[in-house]
Amino acid sequence: MSADNTRVYMDYTASSPIDPRVVEAMMPYFTKVFGNPSSLHSFGNDVREPMNEARNKVGQLIGAEDPSREIIFTSGATESSNIAIKGTAYRTRNKNHIITTAVEHMSILNITKALMKEGYETTVVPVDEYGMVDPAEIEKTITEKTFLISCNYANGEVGTIQPIKEIGKIARDNKVYFHVDGVAAIGKIPVNVVDDNIDLLSISSNDLFGPKGTGALYIRKGVSIQGVLQGGGQERGIRSGTEDIPSIVGFGKAAEIIQQEMDGESNRLEKIRDRLIKEILQIPESYLNGHPTTRLPNNVHVRFSYIEGESLILDLDEKGIACSSGSACTAKTLEPSHVLRAMGLPHELVHGSILFTMGRWTDDDDVDRVIDALPPIVKRLRNLSPLTPQILKED
Ligand code: PMP
Repeated sequence: MSADNTRVYMDYTASSPIDPRVVEAMMPYFTKVFGNPSSLHSFGNDVREPMNEARNKVGQLIGAEDPSREIIFTSGATESSNIAIKGTAYRTRNKNHIITTAVEHMSILNITKALMKEGYETTVVPVDEYGMVDPAEIEKTITEKTFLISCNYANGEVGTIQPIKEIGKIARDNKVYFHVDGVAAIGKIPVNVVDDNIDLLSISSNDLFGPKGTGALYIRKGVSIQGVLQGGGQERGIRSGTEDIPSIVGFGKAAEIIQQEMDGESNRLEKIRDRLIKEILQIPESYLNGHPTTRLPNNVHVRFSYIEGESLILDLDEKGIACSSGSACTAKTLEPSHVLRAMGLPHELVHGSILFTMGRWTDDDDVDRVIDALPPIVKRLRNLSPLTPQILKED
């Protein structure tokens, strides 16, 4: 059952509740254990060990070989990706070319746009109808000026899982750094930085049911990177600023829990996901967005002809069901999703799309409520639209 027992929450990608076990682990660090890990006295000692433990747990979740040196704590994935992309750009002499994809989160696309104003070049590789990147397309665009490939592990909007291992091999063979936005995938499917040839990986704590405003960047040993924030030299000089110990401890606990529970939990969610997809697709002229099988276990992204997604979301909200039109990070702009556009969907179908993302507290009762509420809402909205063919308006 959903977090507050009355409404159904299916927008976990926008925000997730913090697991109570995580909150419990964090509590002592707000009041009793409050030292600064850089301090030499015993109050500093009190938090150094828990911080290192958290670093190990986050590192273990992604298969890092040496978490103590390879994990940098940040304020979230946006900051991690800024450090990864700008940090390698500023450190790499004589190379100025970045390759990324048309279905990245805005945090990636806007960093590369900012760098283009500084003289860097970016190639944005297209995707297929499912939002999947073709590694050969990436390989084709590598030049002697390329220093970085940045690609999402899985797309947070349409749920498609990318062929990361192949892209990583291409990057490694061509001596190009490989940065991955792992936010949507980590904790839901196995991610291993060594097997996948990943050099830099952005992680967000809240997506693991840890505290918000916290994240990490994995930087493989040997990757040279310039810090973006200048200051007291914390986090190996790459990310200065006093570490947020309660959040870091919570992030570590969240990583530990999700690593232990991932297999069972992903299997459980996959069943719920598949049932929801099957039931929704009974509605005439409804379609699944994203890859039908190579997709995240918690993602159901669907589109309906002749309907505005926003109207659907508001009507579902009235019935106590929360879902989304895509990325919460771009919801305010009312711009059509660049991910769906890159997949070749025309404007009207982009606007008729809605996204359900599920998590640790989603269950079959939630799916029942969506399945009950959705068909009459679709029918009502179609009846209101002059574009709807008569056949769909009849009972
Ligand atoms: N990448 C993806 C796929 C996201 O969904 C988000 C937002 N959760 C981010 C990056 C940015 O993460 P944050 O809000 O932690 O900076």
